[in-house]
Amino acid sequence: MQSEVEVERTPGLPPTIVVEDLHKTYDLGEVQVHALRGVSLQVEPGESVAIMGASGSGKSTFMNLIGCLDRPTHGVYLLDGEDVSRLSKRELAHIRNRKIGFVFQGFNLLPRTSAVENVELPLLYAGVDGEERRERAYESLRLVGLEGRENHHPAQLSGGQQQRVAIARALINNPAILLADEPTGNLDSRTSVEIMEVFQRLNEEHHLTILLVTHEPDISRFARRIVVFRDGRIRSDLSVAVPASAAQILSTMPAAEEDGELVETDEERGG
Ligand code: ADP
Ligand code: MG
Repeated sequence: MQSEVEVERTPGLPPTIVVEDLHKTYDLGEVQVHALRGVSLQVEPGESVAIMGASGSGKSTFMNLIGCLDRPTHGVYLLDGEDVSRLSKRELAHIRNRKIGFVFQGFNLLPRTSAVENVELPLLYAGVDGEERRERAYESLRLVGLEGRENHHPAQLSGGQQQRVAIARALINNPAILLADEPTGNLDSRTSVEIMEVFQRLNEEHHLTILLVTHEPDISRFARRIVVFRDGRIRSDLSVAVPASAAQILSTMPAAEEDGELVETDEERGG
């Protein structure tokens, strides 16, 4: 069941995202690509939003602006109550490190680096000392269900486990919002639901605000709000009365295949 979104204010907290009349034009010299043509949207703390729409409709452009990776050509963007639409690149990078967690389709982990070191990385940049870094990275890995895998390298982990490491890394700075662009695009269907179970748990139990791009209805059904883009504009914005439960669906799916070899470390082999 879906209905028009009525924004529910959380008392005492500013909306996590307010965008008004957001435009983005890519200037390619001879041609200009008008990727966003006036997008207005408000997201409250604790929401989980799926962004859908055909390829080329502006989803990634929108996520890049929300993630402070790029600046709008026109329009206003307030992140956590702060106007970030006119900041310099340097200032944007600072905001990004403090407020945004990113998860990508391709995991983007450093290959010759253990899970815990990958997760610590944003804290290293933020100048947090070694002991605290390690403690928080262990906690973050525990949150995504990777206890005991802290010292595995990406090649020793399955795709789903690698994506969990990426989620743990995105969480380590306590971001105001977690942005995920096609996070299940490289994963099989059971593993995709497992990843959605992690997102759903973080949203419901830890009130993490999540914006997730997907083109699969099988994935968007886990969100509480679905925003559809078309030609650089929002075509529809609906709340979902009762989102599907990833935990429940997992319990009805055939069990995962054993990933034994893949996760066996040299140490475990005695080498
Ligand atoms: P989606 O993620 O929905 O597939 P995008 O935001 O990637 O859509 O792209 C929207 C439009 O902007 C497309 O026409 C795309 O070709 C164009 N575009 C995206 N990124 C760039 C860029 N860096 N330079 C030029 N054009 C771009
Ligand atoms: Mg895209």
